[in-house]
Amino acid sequence: MIGKTAVGKAAKPAGGYLGGRFIRKEKLNDEKWVKLLEVDKPPEDGLFVLRKYVKNPKLMSQEASTTRRNMPIRTLARIVKAAVKNSPKTPSKPKAAPRAPVVSVESMKDWNEITEDEETEVLKLEDLKPNGTIAVIGAGISGLSTAWLLNRARPDVKIHVFDTNEKAGGKMLTSVSESRLFESGPRTLLPSHPGTTVLLKMLWQMGKGSQVYGVPKSAATNQKALIYNGKTVQLPRSLGGAASFLSSSPIMKGLLKSFVGEPFKMARDREIDDESVASFMSRRFSKDFVDRFLSALMRGIYAADVSKLSARSVARLNRLYYLERTEHMSVVGAALSGSLSYLNDYPNKVFPLLTDAMITPERSDPAVLPDISKYSLLGFKNGIQGMAQTIADDLATRKNVSLHFGVGVTSLAPGLDKVYLTLTDGSKLEADIVNSTVADQAMFTDAIKDKTKQLKGTTLAVVNVRTAEPIAKDWFGILIPKTEDARNPEHALGIIFDSSVRNAAVSIEDEQKVPAIEGSIMTVMMGGDLWKGELTPGEAEANAAATIRKYVGDFDQSNAEFNVRVWENGIPLYEVGHSALIHDIHQATAETYNNRVILTGMALGRGVGVSDCVIDSLTVALRFSEQRKLLHPEFFFGNHTTLSAPELYA
Ligand SMILES: Cc1cc2nc3c(=O)[nH]c(=O)nc-3n(C[C@H](O)[C@H](O)[C@H](O)COP(=O)(O)OP(=O)(O)OC[C@H]3O[C@@H](n4cnc5c(N)ncnc54)[C@H](O)[C@@H]3O)c2cc1C
Repeated sequence: MIGKTAVGKAAKPAGGYLGGRFIRKEKLNDEKWVKLLEVDKPPEDGLFVLRKYVKNPKLMSQEASTTRRNMPIRTLARIVKAAVKNSPKTPSKPKAAPRAPVVSVESMKDWNEITEDEETEVLKLEDLKPNGTIAVIGAGISGLSTAWLLNRARPDVKIHVFDTNEKAGGKMLTSVSESRLFESGPRTLLPSHPGTTVLLKMLWQMGKGSQVYGVPKSAATNQKALIYNGKTVQLPRSLGGAASFLSSSPIMKGLLKSFVGEPFKMARDREIDDESVASFMSRRFSKDFVDRFLSALMRGIYAADVSKLSARSVARLNRLYYLERTEHMSVVGAALSGSLSYLNDYPNKVFPLLTDAMITPERSDPAVLPDISKYSLLGFKNGIQGMAQTIADDLATRKNVSLHFGVGVTSLAPGLDKVYLTLTDGSKLEADIVNSTVADQAMFTDAIKDKTKQLKGTTLAVVNVRTAEPIAKDWFGILIPKTEDARNPEHALGIIFDSSVRNAAVSIEDEQKVPAIEGSIMTVMMGGDLWKGELTPGEAEANAAATIRKYVGDFDQSNAEFNVRVWENGIPLYEVGHSALIHDIHQATAETYNNRVILTGMALGRGVGVSDCVIDSLTVALRFSEQRKLLHPEFFFGNHTTLSAPELYA
């Protein structure tokens, strides 16, 4: 028998395909590392993370590039010195071996040159010893993806996930019946975000790729519109369309000269650390441009006022802000020179490759992710909460993972080499490491509460409407800018045409059409920076109906179905100074809990989107994996560094 099995194995070895080659299982991961290093091989000086600056001729002259090449060590020195200067004066841990002074890291070039103690300092997080325990607070996408990725990277570690809710998903909240699917929170993801690719890789590993649908870039449904002077204005979708839009659309009246003049405007003083999106873009373009376009876009993502949001912290604009500050680059120049897309190149390439290297492939068939670049957005056939449930179901089958639904964490007490959790069911847990994906103030010590209470959020109502009549426009949606505030007593932020998106979608696995929806499903978002306090479900329905009648068309309300959800402080407000506040919170948490509590999630992580949360989760799992050495050690120098200096890790 034994001989027979051995012969069978030799005839068909376990393994998988990489780059078209069959590779034995035991070599597969090694090969993937090699592939990763081939793609992003560290330059001679070992400054792997900042390779893009050295290699990109468009970004800077040779002289500037030399300055930039020296930057990481100088930046590191600055961070290290600040860390040493600000380090608490508390006595060192009893009996613990004295640590090498952290300043010695200044001269570090790569992992081979640092000791184990220094490594922990660099990681700014205690290590998870073999068979250690981690508690993950929250089973939204942040907690679920951390647990999943960490389990694949470190199957020896015991992972406990807690959520006060009885179901997985957090803000990913779907309500399904036979005739319709309503999303009360997020619904679609951008394929161009590296976090989306990581999430898809997870689903493919689970064999659940068939859940994902995509809207082809060519579909009419990609049309987006704004309201201007009470009328809908369709945004251009092609270069030809852009030319006539710029020259003749009423919304562009008086704006063209600000576009032409933008490249000649001076950059702002580098000493100024942050400013509002409205201030930044009014300086570069004009106030009218901000009011007519950007105020709508920012409401669409953050449900917030452009004059409050931080130019340094909001997605995409933060890169333009960075290029202006560091390279004195204009917005038009950044777009035309390709510098902006270059900044996306690094994360888009490295994070998915790191995922491949880190997770142990378990599918026997070569699971190759389809090309998602041909889609403008992605969604989930069973709704986005169905995707969360899929991850939770997979986790439930894993050895060493325990999911505790209906159990919240009420306090986190620091210990010498543990964190002590108290749970809502009265029980306690000792963990080596805690990953909190929520900013729930009650859990933390007073020193951290003082800071987390400064975090703000915006409140918004989400109203799903199903009408019997097929009135939804064949567009993605409409956004309502500030210019319309006087004509917007409903306080609507925008409308999404969910049924049109779904009717244009195909399965990304086999490109089959997703079953069409009869009638229309639309979602009206209201409140945000226009929120005026209490709103009853009846008022929310009436406002949604009035908004649809105003901008879309009439319908029989008695035959329509409504679903209302109010999210109190549902979207964190990244206001001016946000990155400094987040830095402080991460710093205070690291000090209070001896680097044993790590904070992620939409309020405390790198961004408000689902895909941002997934990248934070990947970073957490990566810290505890062998594969962390594929990145320059500086990458891990405190999560707050990544947050407060996103330009280094963009
Ligand atoms: C209306 C709306 C629309 C959105 N649309 C999009 C979109 O289209 N695309 C996109 O990318 N993003 C969108 N987002 C953002 C997206 O929802 C978030 O990025 C993401 O869901 C956040 O996930 P999370 O796990 O960090 O937090 P959450 O989803 O908030 O999960 C946190 C979990 O922690 C639990 N919890 C809280 N306190 C405790 C405690 N003390 N103990 C235990 N558990 C606790 C909660 O019950 C919850 O389940 C939208 C958000 C909203 C509100």
